[in-house]
Formats: sequence, C-alpha cells, structure tokens
Amino acid sequence: MQRIATLALALTAGIVAVPLPALATPPTSTAPRSPALVSTPPTSAPPASTPPVSTAPGKACSGYVGLTFDDGPAAGNTAALLAALKRAGLRATMFNTGQNVEANPELARAQLRAGMWIGNHSWDHPFMTQLTESEQAAQISRTQDVITSVTGVTPELFRPPYLDTNDALRAVERRFGLTEINTDVDSRDWDNATPEQIVTAAGQLTDGDVILMHDWPPNTVAAIPGIADVLRTGKLCPGKISAVTGRAVAPGTRALDGVHTAGRIEARDTGARYTWPGVYFEGRVRGDSVGVVLDDAVNDYELRIDDRPPVTLVTPGRTTRWVTGLGAGVHDVRLAKRTESPWSPGLFGGFVAGPGGAVVGKPAARSRQIEFIGDSWTAGYGNTSTLRDCSTTGGVDRNSNADQSFGALTARTLNADYQLNAWSGRGMVRNYGGGDPGTDYRTWYERTLQAADPAVWPRPASWSPQVIVIGLGINDFSTPLATGEPWPDEAALTAAFQEAYAGFLRKLRLRYGPKAQFVLTYPTLWNTTALATSVEKIVADRTAAGDNRVHALHYDLPLDLLGCDWHPSAADHRLLSTALTDYVKTLPLRW
Ligand SMILES: [Zn+2]
Repeated sequence: MQRIATLALALTAGIVAVPLPALATPPTSTAPRSPALVSTPPTSAPPASTPPVSTAPGKACSGYVGLTFDDGPAAGNTAALLAALKRAGLRATMFNTGQNVEANPELARAQLRAGMWIGNHSWDHPFMTQLTESEQAAQISRTQDVITSVTGVTPELFRPPYLDTNDALRAVERRFGLTEINTDVDSRDWDNATPEQIVTAAGQLTDGDVILMHDWPPNTVAAIPGIADVLRTGKLCPGKISAVTGRAVAPGTRALDGVHTAGRIEARDTGARYTWPGVYFEGRVRGDSVGVVLDDAVNDYELRIDDRPPVTLVTPGRTTRWVTGLGAGVHDVRLAKRTESPWSPGLFGGFVAGPGGAVVGKPAARSRQIEFIGDSWTAGYGNTSTLRDCSTTGGVDRNSNADQSFGALTARTLNADYQLNAWSGRGMVRNYGGGDPGTDYRTWYERTLQAADPAVWPRPASWSPQVIVIGLGINDFSTPLATGEPWPDEAALTAAFQEAYAGFLRKLRLRYGPKAQFVLTYPTLWNTTALATSVEKIVADRTAAGDNRVHALHYDLPLDLLGCDWHPSAADHRLLSTALTDYVKTLPLRW
C-alpha cells in the first residue's frame, strides 16, 4: 500500500508552500536535559532490604532470581530434577533443545505441569555463530515449532548454546520474537562443580539476576535443597524471566501492571503494541531512577517525569531508556507517542525501577473521557515547526507532537483521559488529493493497529467517552476533484460526504449511547463552503430527528498555519484548544 505522500492542507490563499531557508537547529531540541537521560542502566546496587521490588511480590521476597536449567529434557535426568525442584518449592526456566523435546515430549509437558517455563536452546546445540543465517533460523524455528506443538506454549526466550552469540544471531532471534538470555552467574555445574560450589554460586544472586545450570549433572539435582535455603536466607524468590527486560520478575508480572493508559493498544504480557498517535502511558515509580522499556525504531516519544521539562525520545529502538538523578520518593511518569505510524506498531514494555526502587500502584483512570476523531489537524501534524517547509528540518515526524495537539491540550485542561484516533490525509469519503481511492478514514477507524493489522479494537467497557470530537472533512474538500474520481462534481461529493457522515454518526451513537455529546468541528476552507454547510446540515438533521446532543463548532480563529505544509502551529493548537475547551464547558455534562 502506498503511503499518501503529501498531506498538505492549504487553507488560505497562497496554497503552495514557499521554500524557506533551513533552520540552524531542529525546533524540537529545546527540552532541557535535566534530569539526566542515559541509555545504560543505573549502577547495580545490592537488593534493597526494605521495599519489595515488584508490584506485589509478597512479604517473603525482596527480589526475584531466574533459575535456569539447559539441555533437557532427557530420560533419566529431568524427572529427578523436577521432583527436587517441586520438593524445594522452586520454579525455573528450562532451556530445552528441540531434538530433546521431540524425543521426550512427555517430559517437556511434565516441566510445564511442574510450574516451569520453557525457553529455546537451539535444535541440536551447535556453536550458533558458526552457522549461516538460514541455518541459525532453522535451528531456532524448528525448536519453536516442536515446543509449541508438544506443550502448546511458544517460547519467548532463547539461550545460545555455549553462550555463543553476536549481533547477527540476535537479529535472527528477534525475527522469531525471542529475547536472548545469557547469565549473570555461572554455576559451573557443567564443569563438575560440587553441590556446595553450586549453592555458593546461587548465593551470589541479587534481585533480577539469572543463574546458569543444567538439566543433566547429578550434582545440580543434589544442590537444589541448598539453593532453596540460600535464596530464603537472602529473601529472594524464584522468578520468571521477563522477555521484555531479560531480568527475573515476580511470576505473573505483566509489563502493563502498574500502567494506566486510555489509548487503543494491543495488550500482551510483554507490553503494548499501538499505532494511533498520542497514545500515552502513565505510571508511578519509587526511587532515584526510572527506566522506560521500548521497542520502536519509527516513532518519537515525549517522556515527562513529575513536573520536569519533558524529554523527547527520537526513534529509540529496542532499549530501556533510563532517567536518573530523580531523588528519593515516588515519581509520576508519563510517556506519550508524538508521531503517526499507521503501518508500524510501536512496543512499550512497561516502566521499570532502578536498584532499590519499585513500580508502585497504578495511577487512577480519570472519570472524564474524550475521543478525538480526525485527520492531520487532530494528529498534531507538523505542529512544532515554525516553517511550513519541513524538508530541511527533519521532516514531518521530527516536527510533530501529538502530545501538544489541541485534543491532548483540551483533555489535559479538562482532566480527561483521551484517544486521538487521527490519521493524516484521511477524509470521510475522500482522502487528500483523491489519494488511496476506495478507502477513507472509516476504513480504519475500528482497528487497533490501523493498517498494520486488520483486527478490530475490542473496546473495553471502561472506554465510554462522554464527549466525542470529530474533525473530518478537510481532506474531502480541500483539493480539487480529478477526472476518474467517483464524484463528477462538488455537489456529488457533498452529497456523498453528508450521507457517509450521517451514517458514521449513527454508528457512533449506537456505540457510545444516547447521552454522549458529539462536537462536529470545522475550520474555514479557503476554496469552498461545502464543509461548513454540510456539517451544519448534519447537525440540523440530527436535531430535527430528536437528537440534541450533536453540535457544530466552527473554528473561526486567526490561525497562522505555520506548521509543516500549512498545518496548525503550536500556537494554533493552543487557540484551537481554548476554543474547544470553552465550548465543551458549555455542554450539559455530568462527568
Ligand atoms: Zn547447553
């Protein structure tokens, strides 16, 4: 599918953006970098003896460790190991080879029944870095397939045999959704370590650490009771290894525990995937440092901690970004997606605390909810630019911030949760310049991930906005009709627009109930009054039909349109937000 190349919406006379000199520095680099934003984790400290480390770890645990056993399952070994682990009340991650699972499927199922987690340890234990890429992929995929078919569970973790790895191998692992797990502590059980030596090694573990052991040495089985004792002494509990962070966490921990969001996301244990602009996540973290787990090479984010100036994360990639030097106490953390990515989901893997810190309770949802439905105006397209030509200042993405769009500003002023369900260039029946014919905004509205996945968003009962603000129609009318388009003239386009808009409203009314207030917005278009007359007619028709909760709001404002490609600037978004906020305040809402 072709991306709509140009989303410009020239609304005043002088339609063509005049090429202008480049800015010396990108306009988004203004946020002071205090506190420090660093990409490496804060230095590890001994596990805090006071606060529990995870959301609800239980009193006995001041932290979690990942016990791992490689090379199984095998007849004569695995059953004894599982029995010892069960007797000691321990859970562990078993890095199985594919060939052993194929030979011993019942033992693999026994691992799961005993409460263990299963990881991928290649098919037949080669030195992976000596293989070609396709051989590496075959080692991994065959093992994924046999473990999935035998146990019904698909591994998320991969441990390379001999801990032999490199960047190229890790790239192959990622194609299969696998996180590589090496080790913090090597028990050396593979090298004839005695049970006492293995227990001593386990005694070195601190919160989050992973220890390497094996399925087959008899000394390992003999060490299990001593491992349980040494962990108890250290108030450490056996944990599950997180596929997001690669660290041991409380079993049952999910990345979004302790995170509030109102956006359309696909929630997984390992985090959230999303494409719509402005999606935000809020958390509360105790301690001097906060980590943000992300996997996104496409989008930019706004990260705000307490009332400090926000920091912009530009296409962070797969990383945990740490902010340090926050001081003691509990900090409010907020991450918001600045950019649009209708074809490319981002992944947020949760907030994490530094040494001695903790992710504490989930911030409360707001009782007020507003849904914004619209195009580039609603998405905040190019709004942080001060030049209409953004080609020399980083392009549209570097100059867009949905978190400063009029919708985000309005919702924050009204203390409402919100969604920005916006896609630049899309219209009610016609896209900008007649682009991507046969589709329009409504094609994608129901989806969780826009063009990245056809799945419909399973709207939770908790999402029931009292106000829905619609800003569609600029793209339908702002460019001239071309021959070959479905509408012979503007009258035909106007009729189709009105019919589609009315139908869309009926659907939203059913979706959100009779009390929801709809605000249908429109600006003054430079070339036609068709949008204005259409919106006013649609509202009049609804009112005549007895629905007095559908309203028109004309943005009759002195906008400078100095954002990219003649879009509303940051100042314009503030004007739009003030007008909209004032209008919403006049509505008879009990929220
Ligand atoms: Zn091995």
